[in-house]
Amino acid sequence: MKFGGTSVANFEAITRTIFIVGGKLDQKPVVVVSALSKVTDLLYKISDAAASKNKVQTEELLGQLRNRHVSLACELLEQSPALKEQAVERVNEICDKLEGLVSAVCALGELSARNKAIIISNGEILSSTIICFAMNAKGIRTNFIDARKMMITSESYLKGEPISTEICARVPVIVSEAYKGMDAVITQGFIGANLQGEQTVLGRGGSDYSASLIGMAIDAERIEIWTDVDGVRTADPRRVQNTKALEKISFEEAAEMAHFGAKVLHPLTIEPAVKKNIPIYVLNSMNPSNKGTAILRNELIEDGVKSVSFKENIRVINIFSTRMINTSGFLRRVFEIFSESKVSVDLISTSEANISVTVDGNEKIDKVVAQLSEFADVIVDDDKSQVSVIGKNIVRLNGMLKKTFAPLKKCNVYMISQGASFVNISFVVDREELTEVVQDLHHHLFEQPEEPECM
Ligand code: ADP
Ligand code: ASP
Ligand code: MG
Repeated sequence: MKFGGTSVANFEAITRTIFIVGGKLDQKPVVVVSALSKVTDLLYKISDAAASKNKVQTEELLGQLRNRHVSLACELLEQSPALKEQAVERVNEICDKLEGLVSAVCALGELSARNKAIIISNGEILSSTIICFAMNAKGIRTNFIDARKMMITSESYLKGEPISTEICARVPVIVSEAYKGMDAVITQGFIGANLQGEQTVLGRGGSDYSASLIGMAIDAERIEIWTDVDGVRTADPRRVQNTKALEKISFEEAAEMAHFGAKVLHPLTIEPAVKKNIPIYVLNSMNPSNKGTAILRNELIEDGVKSVSFKENIRVINIFSTRMINTSGFLRRVFEIFSESKVSVDLISTSEANISVTVDGNEKIDKVVAQLSEFADVIVDDDKSQVSVIGKNIVRLNGMLKKTFAPLKKCNVYMISQGASFVNISFVVDREELTEVVQDLHHHLFEQPEEPECM
């Protein structure tokens, strides 16, 4: 059971979360928690302030971090003075250690990736510590597991890639040992360690991925992702009106939605679940009686359009070269350049003398553009957005392309790509048009009566 930032944001949210876990003890849950809402952002700000030697700001932010967690521990453990004292002491110890590191970084004005990973992992360590105490105070005997003993990743401090063999070997042993005499165990999402025992993190939003890896490692019956919406919807309800709940979707559809911008799941969450065919349920901790969304094997899901996802800030890189015509190594050379700079490409479309690709708007592309420019003309279009219509076999459904592009009469479409997997039709529009495009498209696909099918 994974609980995201909003599900552990404050006293009320944590009380609800503990109640939800308490109702499932017969299923022996492994509870995975994120940092309290916005705390990871705060830790990023602390590292930035320290790196720029801004002592005043660093101390002010560290004070906010400590106060929020100490107050929360006091509030949750009001009725259990002994546990409250222990919890506050533990929170202070964690904050003291963090402050020691941050002040060293601030004195030098140098922040290594290794230290940054240590700093930003404190959100999960603090939240899981406090919630563990609070669960025990509610009579749920809960053991604390340090994820760094079992979530083993590659060396990369800030984007550790999980090493499945290590995780599968360690998690079952550690979890069953921790369960002895207990009702539940709790651990952290997002954080791990490399084989040298150094702190790593899985990348932003990585707690979903942690939960799914742990589920895979213990052969869980189900993986539950508890968040702040009634499951996966036809679009992001924060950006699109009249979205609808999706009762069930396939692993493939969910992976595609997440890869193409739906923040509700970390893009890699589906992979471990698929390996062991474990269903994932996306549920609302603020409305636990809602059925949420089941993410299941492909065969159990019907064909048809399920959602509109989008990435708001992307760039299109257009590469023109007459040398591309009849030259076999051209594409290889282009993609080697992207790969060497670790810039990941989303959509690709090619014509005889042109390749267009999309990349995330925050990727650093100067080096890639310089290298491509040595043998091609390169034009970069900034301020674009990528919109994806996703659903099983939609590419093969009659009339789907017409349905997708009919509402876009007025705006420029820069690139169109339909996934080889038949699950995805994506295109690029101007960023300023995004809100209207997504709303119109959603209206057309999900709020209109079915039209008779046409080619
Ligand atoms: P958590 O902190 O629980 O991990 P996130 O903020 O990462 O929560 O993810 C939940 C959010 O994902 C929702 O509040 C919603 O705005 C957003 N979201 C984006 N696309 C979708 C979608 N298709 N269905 C549901 N939620 C979505
Ligand atoms: N706390 C981490 C983040 O905010 C991981 C997560 O919430 O999934 O990115
Ligand atoms: Mg999330």
